Amino acid sequence: MASAIGCCLLVLALYPVSDAKANRQLAEPVAIPVAAQPLAIPAEEIEPALVWTEQRVSSGDSLSTLFSRAELTAIDVYQVSASQDGKLLRNLYPDELFRFGVDSTGQLQELHHIQSKLVSRVFTRDGESYSSEQRVREPDTLLNYREGVIKDSLYMSGLEADLPDKLIMELANIFAWDIDFVFDIRKEDSFSLLYEEQFLDGEKLSVGNIIAATFTNRDKTYQAVRYTNDQGETNYYTPEGLSMRKAFLRTPLDIFRISSGFNLKRKHPIHKKIKAHRGVDYAAPRGTPVYSAGDGKVIAAGYSKANGNYVFVQHGQTYITKYLHLNKKKVRKGQSVRQKQLIGTVGSTGYATGPHLHYEFLVNGVHRNPRTVKLPQANPIPKAELAAFQTATQPMLRQLAQSGGTSSFAGSSDATDKNSGGTSSAN
Ligand SMILES: [Zn+2]
Repeated sequence: MASAIGCCLLVLALYPVSDAKANRQLAEPVAIPVAAQPLAIPAEEIEPALVWTEQRVSSGDSLSTLFSRAELTAIDVYQVSASQDGKLLRNLYPDELFRFGVDSTGQLQELHHIQSKLVSRVFTRDGESYSSEQRVREPDTLLNYREGVIKDSLYMSGLEADLPDKLIMELANIFAWDIDFVFDIRKEDSFSLLYEEQFLDGEKLSVGNIIAATFTNRDKTYQAVRYTNDQGETNYYTPEGLSMRKAFLRTPLDIFRISSGFNLKRKHPIHKKIKAHRGVDYAAPRGTPVYSAGDGKVIAAGYSKANGNYVFVQHGQTYITKYLHLNKKKVRKGQSVRQKQLIGTVGSTGYATGPHLHYEFLVNGVHRNPRTVKLPQANPIPKAELAAFQTATQPMLRQLAQSGGTSSFAGSSDATDKNSGGTSSAN
């Protein structure tokens, strides 16, 4: 099935990119559209003696068009825009909302500029002008729990566990240094996670960060917990305080663009007949981003008949990684690169029968299997901070463990300092 020298190809069904994009958008915290009844100003703070109307901003709207639709006059527009904070109304954005409070004589008394569910500005009549005040609401952060078992793909199993797209990707990213989600994932692998959700008046606004998670891959369980260190840097660690982040990515390309890891019926790459093969092949759509597996320096970036477009990266004295058959190279020889920096895109240049990344990992000049080579550890929690780390993270890990077997709401009171605690606000 493969050419004499080239790498074998896997037959792949494409991951539904367009659906994924749509879901991803929904998962973004700010992408939730403002509801018909915006919450930025609670109902009890709206002056009941006034008559209220609303106008939503469309593209092309100005204060004048909005006021005109609300049957207010040019004088009203002038008085508001000439007021001290009137200049803040020069830039309006679609889907913002204006609420007009008019008294019995038809006089505009209060104007609410509702920018989002959380942020608004209230203009109040003060003689012939208006004074204004910004109102910002803080959402309540609660913890939720989910678990799942891999049946067909991480992505599908994540959706089945009712996980938003964004969290499925975050979950894969947390364990990306330990698990090759393209080749290692197996049916009956399982995961569990504790994550933040933001609520306002009992309504879910957005999904926050994963706080703690486990992933069991072929009977080996990996645990990760989120922690912000002394320096204010946030990372995921093992319960013992070792960084989840390692010097090398296990899979040097965007796993969410390829489906082999999600297709358990896929055939394994067979290289037995190809003596010269010394790497791993990741079949992926042409153009899939290829990342540098670790920090390093580009020692070669060129073209040859066999390799096609290729990039070699040196990492310290010991390691070299090689990326072949690229469609496009995105780096030059001599350039420094960071881990997960884009260095090229998947292609089929050179001896390749279809688009794939051929990836090699060398330790002291010797080829090693990139999927199984033991990777060096990076940045554990310093000894001096270990006690603080454990105080902060053990309650989260305990809660994750105790939530197992349920998928109901798991409120937390001793969770994190920014946590409002409990399910009390979900009323
Ligand atoms: Zn190959």
